[in-house]
Amino acid sequence: MAGVSATPPAIIVLGPGALATAQRVKALYEGARIHALQDRVSGDVAFAELGAHLRDCYTRGLPIIALCAAGIVIRCLAPLLANKGAEPPVLALAEDGSAVVPLLGGLTGVNVMARTIGAALAVAPAITTSGELRFGTCLLNPPAGYALASLAQGKRFVSDLLAGDRTRIDGHAPWLDHVDLPRDAHARHAIRVSAQAWDGNPADLVIHPRSVIAALGAVAVPDATLAATVERTLQAHGLARQALAAIVAPATLMGDASLANAAAALDVPLRFVDADIDGDIGAGLDTAIAAGLAPNKANEANVQRIAANDAGIALTVASAPVDPLAIGRARGKLTVIGLGPGRADLLTPAARAALDDATDIVGYATYVEMAGPLRAQQRRHATDNREELQRARHAFEMACEGRRVAVVSSGDPGVFAMAAAVLEALEASQDPRWHAVELAIVPGVSAALATAARVGAPLGHDFCMISLSDNLKPWSVIETRLLHAAQADLVMAFYNPISRARPWQLDRALDVIRGVRSGDTRVVLGRDVGRPAETLRATTLGALRSSDVDMRTMVIVGSSMTRGFRRVGDEQGEWIYTPRWYPQDDTAT
Ligand code: SAH
Repeated sequence: MAGVSATPPAIIVLGPGALATAQRVKALYEGARIHALQDRVSGDVAFAELGAHLRDCYTRGLPIIALCAAGIVIRCLAPLLANKGAEPPVLALAEDGSAVVPLLGGLTGVNVMARTIGAALAVAPAITTSGELRFGTCLLNPPAGYALASLAQGKRFVSDLLAGDRTRIDGHAPWLDHVDLPRDAHARHAIRVSAQAWDGNPADLVIHPRSVIAALGAVAVPDATLAATVERTLQAHGLARQALAAIVAPATLMGDASLANAAAALDVPLRFVDADIDGDIGAGLDTAIAAGLAPNKANEANVQRIAANDAGIALTVASAPVDPLAIGRARGKLTVIGLGPGRADLLTPAARAALDDATDIVGYATYVEMAGPLRAQQRRHATDNREELQRARHAFEMACEGRRVAVVSSGDPGVFAMAAAVLEALEASQDPRWHAVELAIVPGVSAALATAARVGAPLGHDFCMISLSDNLKPWSVIETRLLHAAQADLVMAFYNPISRARPWQLDRALDVIRGVRSGDTRVVLGRDVGRPAETLRATTLGALRSSDVDMRTMVIVGSSMTRGFRRVGDEQGEWIYTPRWYPQDDTAT
């Protein structure tokens, strides 16, 4: 889909009447989500207030397809329109699919989207952009694989044509073949499709195919100035920076931050090729680059190779766009993600973004399910085995191949969950490929925090988190900790309190604590917190029975200070909290 912004759109619906049309549009865009007005209709993402939500999507650069009146959308976004920065496409779409109106984002592909949606719904899109109407395309929004040299110059060029000038086309512009342009082989104006930098001639509209590959030799030493060095190298050969399609480097440099920074600064993919033991990537590099050229038939001829300069940078200049993703492989990524207790609105935006970015999702079947909605192309590796280290190794192996792997845990991944297993597997490995993978850990709302928030603030003062599972530690360690925690008057949050394989441990733990703390100590039980089957119960240490608890329960045992009260006029729930203070010890001298 030429020129369409790569970010999947937000499809906004306000009521059930719009859902059928929304689903049809969703099917057109990989990764699109239906954002639905809470309590009226359900979709992939719920929002509470239309204006705030539209502004949020807009500032995040999400293309917006709003199934409501154009006027509503305009009014909601008006406060943001004064400063014309990067503008995502915004369209209004009639609920019944009978009209599609592109509103904003002429340079980011709104008209292309309007045509695509119009074609799918069999209606004529309400296109009002004069250049588009006259020529049937936006010359200033070339398809994927091409970049405009100068927007200001482009606008001048289009208005010259609208005023009656004619143009020739220099170079290979297949997407213009069927465009109704005022052509003239001898015209002063030219649409020039080339990797060569624009020479400033005001009669030219210059469009660069992303057709140049910059390769670093195995001996190159990337540093903080790398982006500037690549630019200088391009300049020295008269090539435009926008024509750069990719940077290719030996896999031995995969963990190098300056390389990643340079690719980010130049806004191109960074691809890696295996070096042999002598550090010579010559043959492997040639094969990899050939793979990037191959998808475009036009690159069978006219490929220029420029040998490495002093900085170790060699250039390959093709005539048509290359496919950077066909060259070697990317640096893989492994992200350990905390999903929170289960509710979508307790999943952090950072976790959602990391999930959306992943190619592979790894974890217990229940958690992989909880990580949805996932796209069809995202591979799910749901396991029920309890071998966390094995799962971590599998994740690293996939990341080494250049995949972006998300390992999911419930709650926080660092609290009795996968993050420590992933780090343990990494530390035990000498494989340099594992150590070169990009690694990140995204926190989540842990069960103790989610439970505490539902009942008040029982963790309002010093507390500890203890797993009662003796699968990975001796029971004696647990007992010692319980005793000390009880003596220190810490509030305690118990994870993994009981299971079929560990039937007696909780009673034993409670005995230890009862030896120190009084029977009226506050206890909170949260089961399936943040999930549809959620239950909460307040009880006391004296009344608590292990049969009240199962492996889906969080047990919070209060300190001597933890207390509860009912709000005035409220006979229902009690609010439980631990004050931030202790009585001052006036026996101290
Ligand atoms: N990483 C998770 C904890 C994993 S250990 C986190 O940070 O929450 C698993 C234990 O966590 C369970 O035995 C249970 O005690 C607790 N737990 C996890 N999710 C829960 C939920 N939604 N409600 C109550 N307890 C939960």
